[in-house]
Amino acid sequence: MHLRPDEEAAAPEQYFTSENAERYRETADERGIEELGVAEHVFRFVQSLDVWGHPWFRHWARDDIDQYCTFVREETDLRLGIEADFVPGREDRLANLLEDRDWDYVVGSVHFLRDDAVDLHGETGWEQWDVWRSGGDPERVWRRYFETLGEAARSGLYDILAHPDLVKIFAGQLPVPDGDLRRFYEIAMDGIAESDVAIEVSTAGLRKPVGEIYPAAPFLEMCLEAGRPVALSSDAHLPEQLGFEYERAVSFLGDLGVTEIAVFERRRRRLEPLG
Ligand SMILES: [Zn+2]
Repeated sequence: MHLRPDEEAAAPEQYFTSENAERYRETADERGIEELGVAEHVFRFVQSLDVWGHPWFRHWARDDIDQYCTFVREETDLRLGIEADFVPGREDRLANLLEDRDWDYVVGSVHFLRDDAVDLHGETGWEQWDVWRSGGDPERVWRRYFETLGEAARSGLYDILAHPDLVKIFAGQLPVPDGDLRRFYEIAMDGIAESDVAIEVSTAGLRKPVGEIYPAAPFLEMCLEAGRPVALSSDAHLPEQLGFEYERAVSFLGDLGVTEIAVFERRRRRLEPLG
């Protein structure tokens, strides 16, 4: 989950509070979720500018990462995580940022292919950075996306791979490649198989134009065959989104024979029974 809503105006004093954390915890209790962690986006922190100076990062970077860590450790009972974009070529810089802090878990995500985002279509002011502008060839974008995802897994920087087929986010609004999509998943699978990452199953995709869980079942099947464990997320940015559609996620996982999910403490993973 994220304590911070997506809106720009929200100031740290509004959401990095024990009261706000408590609102998520209450919803978690109501919905039978015991293990709860917060993973703010790295680009919300000024220190992320040491990793990458993309305009998206420069636009959002306001908060102090150490204040965030101290707040989560001292004023909440949440696991301390971070969602850190994978930026090819900046692995050492990201490693430096991560190494200095005492995370429970680090989530890796691919939102950008070089300078273009896969998930900013239709965002006013960001047209220039939209990989789908002027129709973005889906074959090419999907290939690049899964290449980058495989590299992210292989980098060893991450405990969890977030929303693994995010590239499908606008399916229905924008074209997706034809036919069996496993030819794309295959591209990422070597990197994933050689890594030690857990694969995030996220219900956030159900709130997006695609209207599907991330990742698609065939993708997760391939990861399971490669021996990867599963982590579960609703990617909530508001307390009411916590555990969003988890019944569907649990039956999705049950259909694939998944009975345990990965939880993390000080970057050590253990498996807990699901449901
Ligand atoms: Zn993300």
